[in-house]
Amino acid sequence: MDQISNKIGTLAIVVPCYNESEIIEHTISVLLKKLENLIDAALISSSSFLCLIDDGSKDITWSLIEKSIEIKSGKGNVSAIKLAGNVGHQKAMLAGMEYCGGKCDILLTTDADLQDDLSVLEEMLGEYYKGSEVVFGVRNDRRLDSWWKRNTANLYYHILDFMGVKTLKDHADFRLMSRKAVSSLSSFVESNIYIRGICVAMGFSNSIVYYGRQARIGGSPKYSLSKMFSLGWDGITSFSVFPLRLISLLGLFVFLGSLVVAVRIVYASIYLETTVPGWSSIVLPIFLLGGIQLLSLGVIGEYIAKTYIETKRRPRYLIDKVLDGVKEPHAE
Ligand code: UDP
Ligand code: MG
Repeated sequence: MDQISNKIGTLAIVVPCYNESEIIEHTISVLLKKLENLIDAALISSSSFLCLIDDGSKDITWSLIEKSIEIKSGKGNVSAIKLAGNVGHQKAMLAGMEYCGGKCDILLTTDADLQDDLSVLEEMLGEYYKGSEVVFGVRNDRRLDSWWKRNTANLYYHILDFMGVKTLKDHADFRLMSRKAVSSLSSFVESNIYIRGICVAMGFSNSIVYYGRQARIGGSPKYSLSKMFSLGWDGITSFSVFPLRLISLLGLFVFLGSLVVAVRIVYASIYLETTVPGWSSIVLPIFLLGGIQLLSLGVIGEYIAKTYIETKRRPRYLIDKVLDGVKEPHAE
């Protein structure tokens, strides 16, 4: 067991927020209350804290966060980071993890809308103290999801599985990690980071805690359809080159198929003295092959685009402001 598991650890709760002005104050008070309860139960140290990451919100989320942080009151348990622009949930979460990683022993990532059931946090901490470096929160029902979301998610997990990508079905980003696991995550330097996949692939000792997903406490979902597709595509392309292999296989299949057809045509013209001057038999393959080629080029282009983005080595996020209201951790 890791040495820090022998004593109660400092917990950091990392919460990415984007345009959450309707709920952020409520979320802060619920999470602070939760921290207080866990401190009282001697499950975490009194230096535990909350870290909010404003992912370039366009509404008044940041000023509400600023207002909520009582730096002068000496309570010292909330810090906040304002990112320069909207970089998306994964990178915003990463910003918080990198910022808090060195200041805590245990790190929890959760959403601002409190859809993740905090009542299982005690159980998650129990798993951590038993020796798990990563504790995955896994949803045990999807009843609150729309038909579309439930089915596309299921299909997506099947596709990932088929492509040989290791995933944990129904785990999003409700996750508790040890300091070691968080600092290991920083060695994954890719721009298009798919954190939930990396945490599974890292291979540290882990456990699962099941929870029921709650309804959003207010406001509307901030994951647009295009953001969801982009996250899904990142998940595939950052872990699998299967789509590229599929193109080669498709090419081979079409090539072998056309060889058979060619032999058949030569045979027919020599021995059967019949020709097939049909318009459709000429035009259809042109469209079919043209479509396959364009699609294949598109997939190859996607991977080239990813390589291009990665070679630029641009920062994954830029920090605009930091409000650090956290006291220096002290020995328990
Ligand atoms: N979020 C973010 N940046 C974005 C979109 C979302 O930081 O560009 C945050 C959002 O504020 C919330 C979390 O990511 O805390 C999950 O978003 P949401 O609840 O909209 O996703 P869903 O629950 O629908 O998957
Ligand atoms: Mg949500």
